[in-house]
Amino acid sequence: MEPETIKALISRTREVILAHAEELTDLDQAIGDGDHGINMKRGFDAIAAAADTIAELPCGKALEKAGMTLVMSVGGASGPLYGSLLMAMGKAMPEAPGSPGDIAKAFQAGVEAVMKRGKSEGGEKTMLEVLLPVAALLSAADTPDVEAVRATADQGLASTKDMKATKGRASFLGERSIGHLDPGARSSALLIHAVCDVIEGK
Ligand code: ADP
Ligand code: MG
Repeated sequence: MEPETIKALISRTREVILAHAEELTDLDQAIGDGDHGINMKRGFDAIAAAADTIAELPCGKALEKAGMTLVMSVGGASGPLYGSLLMAMGKAMPEAPGSPGDIAKAFQAGVEAVMKRGKSEGGEKTMLEVLLPVAALLSAADTPDVEAVRATADQGLASTKDMKATKGRASFLGERSIGHLDPGARSSALLIHAVCDVIEGK
């Protein structure tokens, strides 16, 4: 992957997280401890600070380094979870990814790493509500349609509203977690939109 593309991905993901940091914090205030916006901002600031080094690496190594940076810089649950996603994606990525299938397989490996790390699965009101259906869509389609990816992420996010959380801090609220969007599902949807923006050259 061209260093310029890696830089564009780093800068767009950070931009989108910064623009929505307050919203992520508000969502986490409702069903968690109110730090999700701060955690995500800290993590993506740290990746941006290492952008020059990361962009020179082959795609897989760049993902691994970005993931390690998240693990090292973010204190909350989301740091190790997103870190696992990126590190496993990086390990599964071929040296020179040539097809959408390579990316689908790597993303699937990343999502599986989140489930392993979080001891979680779909239906528990977490970021997996967004990540799992996007992984399934990518694996099913030969040439994934960017609009379909965006719509799938949004539907997954919306589905969290009526769910009861059974993992993470929100699970402490039990029934009272119902009626709120999950902050991690929101950040996952934002990150997927940010990647789609880069693919579409926005
Ligand atoms: P913390 O919960 O430590 O304060 P954050 O607020 O940064 O960390 O992140 C919370 C988000 O992390 C949740 O909204 C949820 O989407 C996600 N999350 C928490 N625990 C898990 C888990 N076990 N599996 C998957 N996702 C999880
Ligand atoms: Mg939190």
